[in-house]
Amino acid sequence: MRSSRAVGFVITLVALGVVLPVLAESTTPAPSEQGSLLANVYTMTAAEYRACCRTIYAAAGYRLEELMEDADPPLVRPAVVMDLDQTVLDITSFQTFVYENELSYTPARWSVYEQVGVHEVLLVPGAGEFIAKAEALGVSVVYLSNRNEANQEFTIAAIEQVGLNTDGIEERLYLKPTGASSDKSPRRDAISARYNVLMIFGDNLRDFSEVFKPARLDDGAATEDYLAAIQSRSDAVEDAVCHWGVDWFMLPNCMYGEWQKHVPDNPVEIMTPTEMTVEQTEK
Ligand SMILES: [Mg+2]
Repeated sequence: MRSSRAVGFVITLVALGVVLPVLAESTTPAPSEQGSLLANVYTMTAAEYRACCRTIYAAAGYRLEELMEDADPPLVRPAVVMDLDQTVLDITSFQTFVYENELSYTPARWSVYEQVGVHEVLLVPGAGEFIAKAEALGVSVVYLSNRNEANQEFTIAAIEQVGLNTDGIEERLYLKPTGASSDKSPRRDAISARYNVLMIFGDNLRDFSEVFKPARLDDGAATEDYLAAIQSRSDAVEDAVCHWGVDWFMLPNCMYGEWQKHVPDNPVEIMTPTEMTVEQTEK
C-alpha cells in the first residue's frame, strides 16, 4: 500500500508538470504512515505505554482478589479469558519486520512469524504478574486467540519462552482452526460452558463480543460514512459501560486493529475539526 500510494503521487505530480519536486517528496512518508511508525515506536519505547499496561493489569488483579475472597460459597472452576497478541504477548518485532521491509500484514506473513518469531516474543508489561496472581488465587488462565491452530506448538513455545505457566496448556488454549472465521464467539461459548469466566482481556473489541464487529465500508465511502461507522463503534462501547474495568479489560493497541477499518486514505477527514488557521500562528 505504501509503494502504490507513492507511485500514484508521482504520477499525479508528473501530470501536473512538477516532476522535480516529486523526487524530493517521494521519500517523505504519507501522514498516515508516519502515524503508524510513531504508533510502533510508542508501543516499543514509551514508558507511558508500559505504565498504562501495568495500570490495567494491577487494577484487574485487585478486582480478581476481591472477587475470589468475597465468593461465598467458593466459585467452581473460575477462569479469566485472555487474548494473546498485544494483550499477553508483545509481538512488536513483527511490526518492525513489516515497517522495515515496506510490507503490509498478510495472514501468510503472520503465520511465518508465529513459527520463526517465537524467541522474539516478549511479555506485555504487567501480564506476567497478573497471570501469576490469578493462578495463585486458583483461577484458570484460558487463552483465546486467532493465532493459527496449525501453529499450536510454536504458540505454546512462545508462551513458555516468556516464562508463563504451560501446565495443561492444551486444555487452556483456544486457537483459530484452519479455515475458521475470526469470530471468537463459538470458542468463547465453549470456554463459558466449561468455566466460570470472571474476566476477559483483549486489545481488539471483538476479543470481547461480536457486537463490536466493524461495519464494512466500500472503497468509495464518503466521509460521513466513515464518521457514522466510527460513531456506531463508539456507541457500542458506551452501551457496554457496565463491563469496562469490571469484567472486561482492554489493553491499548495503537499499532493495528479493526479500528483501522474506519480510517480513510486521507485521515484528516475524520480528525477532530479545528477553525484555527496558520495565519493566526504567524502574527
Ligand atoms: Mg490481540
